[in-house]
Amino acid sequence: MTMTMAEHIWDPAWECADRATIATQQLTRLQETVAYSYARVPAYRAKMDAAGVRPADIRTLEDIRTLPFTTKQDFRDSYPFGLFAVPPQELLRIHSSSGTTGKPTVVGYTRRDLDTWTELLARMITAAGVTDRDIAQISFGYGMFTGGFGLHYGLERVGATVVPVSSGNTDRQLLYMTDFGSTALISTPSYAAYLAEQAKDRGLALGTDIHLKWGLFGAEPWTEGMRGRIQTALGLSATDNYGMSELGGPGFSGECAAVKDGMHIAEDLYIWEVLDPVTGMPVSEGEIGELIVTPLWKEALPILRYRTRDLTAITTAPCPCGRTTARMTRVTGRTDDMLIIRGVNVFPTQIEHVLMQTEGTSPHYLLVITRDGSLDTLEVWVEISESLFNQSMSALTDLQKLLAKRLHSALGLSIKVKLVEPQTLERSQGKAKRVLDKRTAE
Ligand code: ADP
Ligand code: ZN
Repeated sequence: MTMTMAEHIWDPAWECADRATIATQQLTRLQETVAYSYARVPAYRAKMDAAGVRPADIRTLEDIRTLPFTTKQDFRDSYPFGLFAVPPQELLRIHSSSGTTGKPTVVGYTRRDLDTWTELLARMITAAGVTDRDIAQISFGYGMFTGGFGLHYGLERVGATVVPVSSGNTDRQLLYMTDFGSTALISTPSYAAYLAEQAKDRGLALGTDIHLKWGLFGAEPWTEGMRGRIQTALGLSATDNYGMSELGGPGFSGECAAVKDGMHIAEDLYIWEVLDPVTGMPVSEGEIGELIVTPLWKEALPILRYRTRDLTAITTAPCPCGRTTARMTRVTGRTDDMLIIRGVNVFPTQIEHVLMQTEGTSPHYLLVITRDGSLDTLEVWVEISESLFNQSMSALTDLQKLLAKRLHSALGLSIKVKLVEPQTLERSQGKAKRVLDKRTAE
């Protein structure tokens, strides 16, 4: 995108603050958060007592490392409200995680929390290019998922025109998109890819029928290659945005449309750490590790050192957009998304990367794992593009061979490739399910 560096920044006081100011703010808020959690949440008090750490022991930012972690298991053990610092009656809203990996985690917001969260989203939305001139179609699900409502209030605060269509009903999505002239689309990247395909099928043309300028995508892992495909197909500029229910929802980090080189973290309101998932030691700046986050603003549900299980790398180098906040790389996946196939670690995004790099594929794929005796086998099912579908058999065989070769050199593993006809794999309206595990426990 050709945006000037005089780009609009929602809250320059914090988004462009010098790093020493950010650190001072973080320490003050950390001390408050720890004291508040200790006083209000018995589970935190018990953990801190067991670790022999008192709120008064937190004197520097480094002291955060003496605090116990909070994990998804802590949420499960205290389901639904055990980690809350206020009684349920004092909440204004309750959301929960999508429950991708088990029982959903329940999160709550006070009035002040909702206000702060909305500010976080206004920053993220502005960074993604959206202004009060935009018509923003929200195709994230409304409901317990934090994505729909979170973006809704953030977009209203920015002054955009909100079209709260929610997820599903593709015909309606495309009808509103064309008739209202939506200029921003908010969805998962996989659903955006699906909408693009459906728009093409209906003969909708960019510029005449579809007027999208901005795509705010997130909630699931995706790759640069996928971004390229979606941008071309929908004629928009797409940003990656990351969040999770336990951190409040979306708003933790998002890319600036001007540079798109890492997602800016709202550091006055969150402390991040990146740790080696095995040793628990901090990795050096720029190295990949598990993201650990301590939110500094949550009144209803304070959280100390949340283990996100998401892998990323963070840099504090200044960004040409003018923001001074640290930036995190795309999340390759959760530690528990990692497949281990015949001793080799594989993330679905590594496979997506190869698929999207190769012409003739569509952005719709599924990884199927089977067990053959004692050997695990990974098969990639990928839909071919419409144009390839009409070509000769040998073109298909060539593509299949090329993909198998590229996957082998990228992953050091033999992976079977099955090309399937366009529009045969199941589409998702929210987070895509990329893995079908057919291994049976024997
Ligand atoms: P659940 O944990 O049940 O899926 P959430 O809706 O809270 O519920 O999802 C948060 C998770 O979604 C994150 O931990 C992360 O794994 C994934 N996620 C969210 N945004 C992104 C993104 N931009 N890139 C990759 N993964 C993402
Ligand atoms: Zn930037």
